[in-house]
Amino acid sequence: MNQQNQPELSIVVPFYNEQEMLPLFLQRTDPVLAKMAVAYEYVFVDDGSTDASAAWLKEQAIHRPEIKLISLSRNFGKEAALTAGLAHARAQAIVCIDADLQDPPELIIAFYQKFKEGYENIYGQRTDRGTDAWLKRVTAQGFYKIYNLFASPKMPYNVGDFRLLSRRAAEAVLQLPERERFMKGLFAWVGFKSIAVPYRREKRTAGKTKWNYWKLWNFALNGITASTTLPLKLCTYFGMFVSMASFIFALWTAYKKIVFGNPVSGYTSIMVAILFFSGVQLITLGVIGEYLSRIFMEVKHRPTYLNKEKINL
Ligand code: UDP
Ligand code: MG
Repeated sequence: MNQQNQPELSIVVPFYNEQEMLPLFLQRTDPVLAKMAVAYEYVFVDDGSTDASAAWLKEQAIHRPEIKLISLSRNFGKEAALTAGLAHARAQAIVCIDADLQDPPELIIAFYQKFKEGYENIYGQRTDRGTDAWLKRVTAQGFYKIYNLFASPKMPYNVGDFRLLSRRAAEAVLQLPERERFMKGLFAWVGFKSIAVPYRREKRTAGKTKWNYWKLWNFALNGITASTTLPLKLCTYFGMFVSMASFIFALWTAYKKIVFGNPVSGYTSIMVAILFFSGVQLITLGVIGEYLSRIFMEVKHRPTYLNKEKINL
């Protein structure tokens, strides 16, 4: 097997402080790849880890040229790390997988099978979210609902980054120039012949998740604002609706004043109206601000990530 030259399969693994997981990951993934009997490479992306994970991998890479390692100059987040991995993968079939074994490596065999059948965007789809806390389940479900209500193309439910992309599809993703990279959305956007492969997501065996609800909220916001401008339109339509309603109300008040002569009253209705409309205006401004701040980030044209070191590349 010629693993030094042109690999047939690239396994892209972004990781951030996964010193407990990396040995377990290789232990479980190596036999799967050996069974497949294809020339493969690992493209590990060290997303600014501060623990011993990168050092351990480097040691492995000395004896194993098929282990490639790109170290980023700091923690850029998984989306950027995944982008870096895709950019350095060389095979015709490229798998994106987490280092924490929540994405079962055994599924790569099924992915590759589908690839051989001509599919180019093969994604793992979770059959159940039993391993998630209920709050995560509910919020995730809500996110997919809202995202698909707003964005187009729609994103398949319960699908993450765990997938196999053809070289063509991966290059298409890399060509998308945005810096705010909501990878799941980009993967769905590029299209190509796609298919879901169902799987059960396991619990993390070691280490801990890098996510919390605040990060997830921002991630969701990024995803939606990156994929659709519908929230802006909604503001417009809501504003139009409110103006129309106010106009009718104004006519009604004028009519009452003329017919009944209206002594001073209506403190409550005035307060409610002022508070309500200030709230609406602030929310609308907030929505505009969300888009504006993203435009600002994009026009800076900063690179998505910076490399610090490359091993075996
Ligand atoms: N990860 C990364 N950079 C980050 C956060 C996470 O490369 O800033 C990696 C992490 O090491 C793992 C994968 O992305 O391999 C998924 O992360 P995690 O398990 O924390 O996410 P979850 O599975 O909880 O969604
Ligand atoms: Mg995980």
